[in-house]
Amino acid sequence: MSTIISYRPNTQKIRNGFKNILTPSILEDVCVKITGRRTYSVVELNDTYNKGRLITLTHNNTTHYITLSENRIEGRNSSLQSVPTAINVFFADPNPNKKLWYYFVPHTGNPFTDYHLVYYRLMMTAGIEFLNLDNYYTGLLLPYFTVDDLIAERSRNQSSNRSNNSSFVSKTEDKIQLYAKTYGANKYESTVFGVALSKIADRPIDVFAVSEQDLINLPASSLATFSELGNISVYNTSLRLNRLAPDNEDTLRLRSAAYNYNLFDRIGMKKCALCGCEIPEIIHGAHIWGVAEIRNCAMIDDEQKYAHATSGHNGLWLCHNHHKLFDSNLLAFNTDGRCLIRSSIPQEYETFISDSITAGSLQQNILSDNFLYYLIQRNSAINLSSYSAV
Ligand SMILES: [Zn+2]
Repeated sequence: MSTIISYRPNTQKIRNGFKNILTPSILEDVCVKITGRRTYSVVELNDTYNKGRLITLTHNNTTHYITLSENRIEGRNSSLQSVPTAINVFFADPNPNKKLWYYFVPHTGNPFTDYHLVYYRLMMTAGIEFLNLDNYYTGLLLPYFTVDDLIAERSRNQSSNRSNNSSFVSKTEDKIQLYAKTYGANKYESTVFGVALSKIADRPIDVFAVSEQDLINLPASSLATFSELGNISVYNTSLRLNRLAPDNEDTLRLRSAAYNYNLFDRIGMKKCALCGCEIPEIIHGAHIWGVAEIRNCAMIDDEQKYAHATSGHNGLWLCHNHHKLFDSNLLAFNTDGRCLIRSSIPQEYETFISDSITAGSLQQNILSDNFLYYLIQRNSAINLSSYSAV
């Protein structure tokens, strides 16, 4: 019953770059924690360079993949970027007897920022077990048990600098959605989100790979992992397309994905701007300048039409009721962001509507210059003097 630890000593750029951090005490500690024994033999593989900061330990017919933390924790992006790679290598192994672990090597810097802690919870949810977390962290870290858990925490801990986020999670009554950026520093993060969601999902998952311009998919290794999981479908969409295609199920889904991504990116997680409802299934992105009106506008070209129809400035989150009331022009907004109710409706309707609204004015972060531009387009078709403030 021998134990073999194997690894690839070279990094992509440095000969023995990975081997140099593997001290005998690290290897022995890993071996003891997994097998309870101190003896192991080492095999170095030189077929390719190290990916995912991985060592593997085989024992009792089981292959243990152990991904190591960085030894210098600097930027938060770089300190966890090997984790998605490790996940993909792990999933590519057809052997069913396998486990994936994370191990902290001695390090400088702080690997327990809020960002790291959320990421570790995602990793736990994705099925990664921590070998020596207790040596470095005294708090309690648990996986997410439901998608609602995960969404609620994302909502509580929204960064004011949302450009740091590259993945957004939401759900409708029949699907869970993961919006994943395929460009920029955090483009691999979605792999961890996807695997974590797949473990706790109670309904199928749609992953929208959002590219900046040309349709670029997620990395092939991540797509292979998602395919292995079985409950994930991947769609490609772009923040810029050269035309606003006629609506059918497919074009609408992809355009909605780009629009929702932009709304998440601009104003954060789903929350009705009028009543504060946060139940994702009943909250929609509500267009200010409507898609039908954009389509009919003769003054702009197709590329601009697509950009307006998907702009994060051209909308806000509204719950189902408030969205319908807004689209029926029973509700409106003036350019100060005040919510208005149409005056000519029956008194009991007006009372019902005004009782349902907890915020009579839109928050300042919604009222961007571009938002106001769209609001002026919309309001040009209605007579604001026949409305009164909530
Ligand atoms: Zn509402």
